[in-house]
Amino acid sequence: MRELELLSHIYRSNAALPVGVSIPPGDDMGAVKVGGGAVLVTVDQVADGVHFDLSTDPLEKIGRKAMTRNLSDAAAMAARPVAAVAAACLPKDFGEDRAKTLFDVMHATADRFNCPLIGGDISMWDQRLILTVTVFAEPDGIDPVLRSGAKVGDAVYVTGKLGGSLITLEDPPDYTHHLDFTPRIDIARKLATSIATRPHAMIDLSDGLALDLARICEQSGVCAELDSDKVPISTAADITAKRSGQPAWQHALGDGEDYELCFTAQPGMIPDQIDGVPVTPVGRIVEATTGPRVSVRLADGTFADTAGLGWEHVG
Ligand SMILES: [Mg+2]
Repeated sequence: MRELELLSHIYRSNAALPVGVSIPPGDDMGAVKVGGGAVLVTVDQVADGVHFDLSTDPLEKIGRKAMTRNLSDAAAMAARPVAAVAAACLPKDFGEDRAKTLFDVMHATADRFNCPLIGGDISMWDQRLILTVTVFAEPDGIDPVLRSGAKVGDAVYVTGKLGGSLITLEDPPDYTHHLDFTPRIDIARKLATSIATRPHAMIDLSDGLALDLARICEQSGVCAELDSDKVPISTAADITAKRSGQPAWQHALGDGEDYELCFTAQPGMIPDQIDGVPVTPVGRIVEATTGPRVSVRLADGTFADTAGLGWEHVG
């Protein structure tokens, strides 16, 4: 079973949703109208053996990631996080001290983003560690940016550098991107504040640029072309490419867990960096065709399909 098929099953019930649901399933966060405003909400899960390795990854980084993954979804909507709740399924032999460390880290991480952890639940079982976090957010003066607004003629941008998120670097020491990333909340809100730079559609890169941009295209009814030589390649992607023998751009498009922003916007209006983070045009939105949602133009001018790149969660 593929994740997209399972999610499509959920989305098909959208017609029956009450009018109070202002952002239905299918985006980085859903939203409901509450007391004259809107509350956005996301839930995400991290599991030992899937999103982290409890035998080698520090607990501090695991707890941080459980929270920052959700905060990255708030960034994808240009929303301001307001509160979080967390639930843990702990292995029976996990121990009280480690459980406290885990919740302390989630608490401190949430606080750092002015998003207090206001509740939680713990159960014990004889399986591996699972952490589930829900983050609530508010528009706070900025209309949420959806996945469905990409227009033909838009440029496609990404923040930061992509690929190789799983490997640990020596510089900075012990940096592993999929555990240590910074949710791009401030950058998203700065972009969305001005009409000239407001993204038409946006997503955070959890499953790889190829797959996540395809989700924008799917929701917007368009296709996209990426330029392989424009995609910003991380040092980690370069190292990973040398090990795998694959081109570095393939790692940048397919490794996943970058937690950078991908957005479409009017060309020529976006600064090349915000808060010291590079913002790079990597392609364009084109008319929908019967071909692949996202194709890549290679350095020799030929096009490659992106099928098979990206991270599918449901096996
Ligand atoms: Mg997301």
